[in-house]
Amino acid sequence: MSVEESFLRCTACEQEAEHVVVYAGRFVTQIQCAGCGAVTRLDVSEAYLPDLRQRISSKPRRLMRRLRRDPGELATTLPSRTLSKPGRMADEFRAVWRSRRER
Ligand SMILES: [Zn+2]
Repeated sequence: MSVEESFLRCTACEQEAEHVVVYAGRFVTQIQCAGCGAVTRLDVSEAYLPDLRQRISSKPRRLMRRLRRDPGELATTLPSRTLSKPGRMADEFRAVWRSRRER
């Protein structure tokens, strides 16, 4: 999950204002107007879950390829990546789940 700010026209207050845009993977799941606070949630679960499955299933092959090429390099980079990934995934899941529930 990542958060970006961008200048958009708000659909609620009709003002050009800063908006906080929340991404789950490569999908926009929430947009909040900094002017009036209006939140637009997009249900991305339909698009996100197949995308996530694809991202996960493509991973082992990529890792194996790197392992064969340079085991030493992988050993030094893998632990930190493996540890940071679940947290990021959990954040994404929460964002997607919110977009689904509060409709
Ligand atoms: Zn607004």
